[in-house]
Amino acid sequence: MADTPPSRPVRTTTPRQVRPQTEGWTQAKDAEGRPLLQFASPKRGKPPVHLADLTPAQRVEKATELGLPGFRAKQLEKHYFTHYTSDAAEMTDLPASGREELVAGLLPPLLTEVRRLQTDKGDTIKFLWKLHDGALVESVLMRYPGRITLCVSSQAGCGMNCPFCATGQAGLTRNMSAAEIIDQIVRANRLIRAGGLGAAEHPDERVTNIVFMGMGEPLANYARVMHAVRTMTDQKHGLGMSARGITVSTVGLVPAIRKLSAEEIPVTFALSLHAPDDELRDELIPVNSRWKVDEALDAAREYFEKTGRRVSIEYALIKDMNDHPWRADLLADKLNARGRGWVHVNPIPLNPTPGSVWTASERGVQNEFVRRLNAAGIPTTLRDTRGKEIDGACGQLVATEEDEKAAEATPA
Ligand code: SF4
Repeated sequence: MADTPPSRPVRTTTPRQVRPQTEGWTQAKDAEGRPLLQFASPKRGKPPVHLADLTPAQRVEKATELGLPGFRAKQLEKHYFTHYTSDAAEMTDLPASGREELVAGLLPPLLTEVRRLQTDKGDTIKFLWKLHDGALVESVLMRYPGRITLCVSSQAGCGMNCPFCATGQAGLTRNMSAAEIIDQIVRANRLIRAGGLGAAEHPDERVTNIVFMGMGEPLANYARVMHAVRTMTDQKHGLGMSARGITVSTVGLVPAIRKLSAEEIPVTFALSLHAPDDELRDELIPVNSRWKVDEALDAAREYFEKTGRRVSIEYALIKDMNDHPWRADLLADKLNARGRGWVHVNPIPLNPTPGSVWTASERGVQNEFVRRLNAAGIPTTLRDTRGKEIDGACGQLVATEEDEKAAEATPA
């Protein structure tokens, strides 16, 4: 009688499943006990209107209102978008009479620098800015070989209430204006031009890539974010950047993703998914209670179809929460079910935080997650988490008590 082969060891333990929870703060809930979502910006005093909030035609009108010929608006555009200055004293091509008024009327100060943190090598800088009403926002500037990326904020705070995210804890303070978004870039460019971001590769360096992964959910501030994107890409009246270098990300506001697909601006679109199953994602990303994983993926696929631009899926790898092999397989299945070649997955290792449920997956687990996706034909690369050492990685941007004190001591 032939020997029977030894049977496979029977697995008796089920994989550990850590559930999302807030640590050190209480998540605001709605009347039904679900995490509160804030889509509308609370009413606060509006920031002063700035050249970058206006269309080119409105800028001309504004100059005329100030009693000056319309072409002065074009000169101001050049100073702001090309020379990165809002200082009337530097604008010697403008007649001295009326210059101050023109600059005050079209280039009012928007961001006051409160604090700047820099890595040892000097190639990553986090800025803390105070807005006109005291609201605090941050941006992170990163030099890479051949490109300079700025991570910008689009809202002060955020209303999406994700339990892992420092920014979401305080809720939404307000939407930022288009000009407040643009001014983060102009200020960064000014610093780069002054040699403030490590060794320059060439003299005309400036920010080449924008990621909307600072504070806020960009698609919840849709109109202002789109105006800012148009100003970034405007070759004649704006910053003249390439749309391909701009990444607009969202946690999955499906109607706004559809609107973005129809804009005909070929920005890179990133969906912060973080879980392929609704059961976990409902807890991890509260907006999933409105638009489920499949709806968000359908909208992402539509973005690819309309624009031809490959979509990025962001996936923070969190130990024993969303990093299981079966989740990698489920994600691959869901993406493959919507076709091939339309998507790229970026798993992002979280910071190791001992004792927290929000901690990094083990290296071997990360690698296996990536391997499974790649093996299923989904291009997947672990993302660089530059900025972690100064708390500038996504989901870590938040004004601390210390920041608030520094802001109070900073004159506007
Ligand atoms: S992760 Fe993004 S969407 Fe969620 S609360 Fe934080 S900033 Fe908002």
